[in-house]
Amino acid sequence: MNHDDLRHWSKRAADWAHDYHAGLRGKPVRAPLIPGAIASQLPPHPPEAPEPMEAIFADFDRIVPPGLTHWQHPRFFAYFPANASPASMLAEQLANAIAAQGMLWQTSPAVTEIEQVMVDWLRQSLGLPVEFTGTIHDSATTTTLSAILTMREQALEWAGLTKGLQGQPRLRIYASDQTHSSVDKAMRIAGLGQDNLVKIATDATLSMTTSALQAAIAADLAAGFVPAGVVLCAGGTSVGAFDRMGDCITVAKAYDLPVHVDAAWAGSAMICPEFRSLWAGVEGADSIVFNPHKWLGAQFDCAVQFLRDPSPQIKTLGLRPSYLQTADREEVVNFNEWTVPLGRRFRALKLWFTLRAYGLEGLRGRIRNHVAWAQDLALALGKVAEVEIVTQPSLSLFTFALGSDAATEALLTAINDDGRIYLTQTRHQGRFVIRVQVGQFDCTAQDVQMVETVVRDLL
Ligand SMILES: *Cc1c(COP(=O)(O)O)cnc(C)c1O
Repeated sequence: MNHDDLRHWSKRAADWAHDYHAGLRGKPVRAPLIPGAIASQLPPHPPEAPEPMEAIFADFDRIVPPGLTHWQHPRFFAYFPANASPASMLAEQLANAIAAQGMLWQTSPAVTEIEQVMVDWLRQSLGLPVEFTGTIHDSATTTTLSAILTMREQALEWAGLTKGLQGQPRLRIYASDQTHSSVDKAMRIAGLGQDNLVKIATDATLSMTTSALQAAIAADLAAGFVPAGVVLCAGGTSVGAFDRMGDCITVAKAYDLPVHVDAAWAGSAMICPEFRSLWAGVEGADSIVFNPHKWLGAQFDCAVQFLRDPSPQIKTLGLRPSYLQTADREEVVNFNEWTVPLGRRFRALKLWFTLRAYGLEGLRGRIRNHVAWAQDLALALGKVAEVEIVTQPSLSLFTFALGSDAATEALLTAINDDGRIYLTQTRHQGRFVIRVQVGQFDCTAQDVQMVETVVRDLL
């Protein structure tokens, strides 16, 4: 396989990709779950001699698709989406061909500069103030880890970086009981300990109770802990909970605490001005993460972090050994100093292609449809005698259940074995509920209506 062969095989791959996507509606959404069925088709040892690409490609076509859960299927309503617009796929092909590693500005100025412009395009698109700059990470998990490491070091006055955490005061971070497990994971990895993530109870609207946040911080101070920051939830993964940003940030700022907002899923919806009231006050945050790779069509992986002032994070994550120093370093941004990994992919290219190929109006139209269709579906399902809508749509996510957990679980299994749609579950207030999120790039109103059809068929 050489570069001349690549020209031929890239075309074959493009044809394959076209046929794959064109055929998705006819396939079951979720892979049949037979552990070992795929691995057993691969030889146990790597080949010693080169093999022809024809054989490799044929095996790919034979072995891989039957083991796929089709994330781009228009009737994928599980988890959250991982949308890949066609324009984004094309940009990824080009980024693959370039195969640049953009750790420093000079290791490919285009990678850094297009990233800076795309972060600013998105800042404007989401209606955030001009003082926010930012960067692109692989995932919201890494972004939240970066924010929590920065909170840790600000609280320790940068001593943790060199001295470690031994002998340091016990730090506390505050978040609601609706925040994503990535916050717990960040506490573990940052060496702060999951027990020092204080989970604040939510009220009837599923926002963190601000009086409880205030009381928890005051109690920790009295007990000799050091509060280090607050993580707010803008669109929780379980049922789409939103903390009241403005009120929570006012409490945090009364104690001079940095605030990180996790809008991994819901952030994309903020390109529509009518949804921004859900995160009113967000401009008071220090750090905000959202994943264009979920609902905006810029395929996985692409997590954007906006920072009011990047310098504390750069001070926390940036290192400049002699082999990374460059003569231009005062004039340019070296994004490796903003993120956990040193190496960085050219992720901004797919944002550039996606934003231009669909325009904000095209992307807003999709999100508005998803929200409206989710609301229609919740209304229709609510009329099915056995079904109870447990949480109403938060943007395009709602949950439903039957009379008992066992019945709900049995229905979910039947739905996913049926294959026409794919749904997943969560626990809400102790109850097993089925989540429905609408967000596929190519889904139609008919695709969404199929959820009601399938539920009625299987009840
Ligand atoms: C998906 C999600 C995450 C984790 O995202 P990754 O990019 O996969 O790490 C974190 N928080 C929320 C609210 C999410 O929906």
